[in-house]
Amino acid sequence: MTYHIPSDKQIQTALRKVFRQFRTVQSQHRLKKLVTNELNAKKKTFGVSERRLRNIALESDFVKLEIHSREGDPKKILSKCPVCGNVLGRVKNLTIWGGEVTIEFRCSNCNYWTGKKKRIPTRYAFYLKKK
Ligand SMILES: [Zn+2]
Repeated sequence: MTYHIPSDKQIQTALRKVFRQFRTVQSQHRLKKLVTNELNAKKKTFGVSERRLRNIALESDFVKLEIHSREGDPKKILSKCPVCGNVLGRVKNLTIWGGEVTIEFRCSNCNYWTGKKKRIPTRYAFYLKKK
């Protein structure tokens, strides 16, 4: 079975249709299913990965992403955002001894942030943005 690769625009259009029908989609897997159904309404076999779909939803101006997570290894080094792949910014604090300590990592692209106990994304929920 071969899949056609939909364009970003086709995915955006399908996303809009999905969110016109549902205000909230509680998982990435479900969003993929709904968007794929929408894309394939015209008898084509489009396939889209959950990661690509998540990034397109993030870039759109009408979808809000909520990240559910669990605690991960505090020793693990995170340089890239686990949600969108962007470089993470460091939020630093001065110590009483005059040094600097990183207290938080933040992504400027999506809403992801983490403290010392790394937040590992486990589930995503998608909401229609209120205008
Ligand atoms: Zn991010």
